[in-house]
Amino acid sequence: MARKPLIIEARINEYTSRSENGHIPFTPEEIGDAAARACEAGASIVHFHARHANGEPDHRAETYAAAIRAIRSRCDVLVYPTLGQITAGGSDVDRIAHIEALAADSATRPDIAPIDTGSTNLDRWRDGTFGSGDNTYVNHTSTLRYFAERLRALGVKPQFVSWAVPFTRMFEALRNLGLVDAPAWLCFELTDSGILGGHPGTIAGLDAHLRFLPDGPLEWSVSNKVGNLTSQAALSIERGGHVSPGLGDYGWPELGSPDNGAVVAHIAALSRAMGREVATVRQARDLLGL
Ligand code: ZN
Repeated sequence: MARKPLIIEARINEYTSRSENGHIPFTPEEIGDAAARACEAGASIVHFHARHANGEPDHRAETYAAAIRAIRSRCDVLVYPTLGQITAGGSDVDRIAHIEALAADSATRPDIAPIDTGSTNLDRWRDGTFGSGDNTYVNHTSTLRYFAERLRALGVKPQFVSWAVPFTRMFEALRNLGLVDAPAWLCFELTDSGILGGHPGTIAGLDAHLRFLPDGPLEWSVSNKVGNLTSQAALSIERGGHVSPGLGDYGWPELGSPDNGAVVAHIAALSRAMGREVATVRQARDLLGL
């Protein structure tokens, strides 16, 4: 039997500085170009954050709309904007307001939006000290219910993001409440380089998640915030998961600090070498029930 094709979700920019990699896209046109390159290399989903030309977060719905139009004018990839986790100031309504606006027009309706199913500390531990000391990513249970209900009403598929096993348990609780449509789409976000809020960006870090992998129907992926994803990608490919690489998470100095397309090509080549073809957008839609 042919193995399930691999969904590659390109995480092209986050709020990462170009000091990590000069190819990180900021403006809607740059996001469109990066998405096209990633799609050409095998990505079937593009996750992005809208930003000003100077790289600052830009949370306006019109900027998200411009980026989505730029992506869709170039390729038919599944479009996955972020929510406003920190930049929108925190109210549940504010955090999802741009998704509500985008979904009102089929030309800009996102295919996917994230729900991070827990709270964690993001202060970076570096050179024996922490960063600001109050960089905490907060997602109340009431917030999670609200997001799940609103995204369902808007026709936007959630990607449930698990930073640690308690997040996975919360995902299962939401599913027990009837708030998750099958098949679920889950991502295990590993964290490296001094970000302590997730499992380590190693095979052991992902394997610890997979010991608590919920029963299906679901599809799952792995990403590594500020770390080389290659070994965890190989484990995911082996175990039937998917892979979410990109310059937003890591600059990839080992590959010569290339663009997003080359990072996607790196994961695609790994998958093919391990006997799994890379999913087309059509196949990704089928796997995720879109
Ligand atoms: Zn993101």
